[in-house]
This record gives sequence, structure tokens and C-alpha cells, in this order.
Amino acid sequence: MKSHEPPSHICSECGKAFRSNFSLGVHMEYHKRPDEWKFQCSTCGKKFPLKDKMTEHMRTHTKEKPFVCQYCGEKYAHRHNWRNHMKLNIRRNLDMRKL
Ligand SMILES: [Zn+2]
Ligand SMILES: [Zn+2]
Ligand SMILES: [Zn+2]
Repeated sequence: MKSHEPPSHICSECGKAFRSNFSLGVHMEYHKRPDEWKFQCSTCGKKFPLKDKMTEHMRTHTKEKPFVCQYCGEKYAHRHNWRNHMKLNIRRNLDMRKL
């Protein structure tokens, strides 16, 4: 059983390799000119290659912070930041168990 298949979807613009056609498609959006990006913030008009990116950006206008740390209660507007914080928490907990 092969667990680590080499990435076989290659970007024709920069040669970067991706494991799935979907990841490559997402990546290709970034090679487009920003004015060709199809998702636009209705508040400031900024454009984004992905709907998720636009949704996250729009939270900076609404100041909405839906991602809450279950350990310390800290709130995050971006899933990315929240996940990084949670990873730190989990690592910290594992370290404590080792001691
Ligand atoms: Zn590329
Ligand atoms: Zn905006
Ligand atoms: Zn926390």
C-alpha cells in the first residue's frame, strides 16, 4: 500500500506540484489577475479567488469572530489563526502529559 503518492498535478504556470486536481484548480486562481477573480467583497469591492477567502475577509468588516478556543476562550475571526492556536494548545497538553 502506497501512502505517499508523488504529487502528479503540475501547475503549467510555475511548475508547482499538487496532490489533487482540486488543489491545482484552487492554486491556478492565484495566477489570474486580481481583477479576474470572481468573488467580490460587497463592502469594499476587493476581489478574491476563493469564496472562503472572501467570507473570511468580510469578517474584518463585521468584526465577527466565530472561532472560539475551547481551552482559553480566545476568539478568532479566521479559521486559520484559530487552528494554529488550537494546535499549540494540543501540543502543550501533550507535553504536560509527558512531564
Ligand atoms: Zn502555479
Ligand atoms: Zn471588504
Ligand atoms: Zn486557547
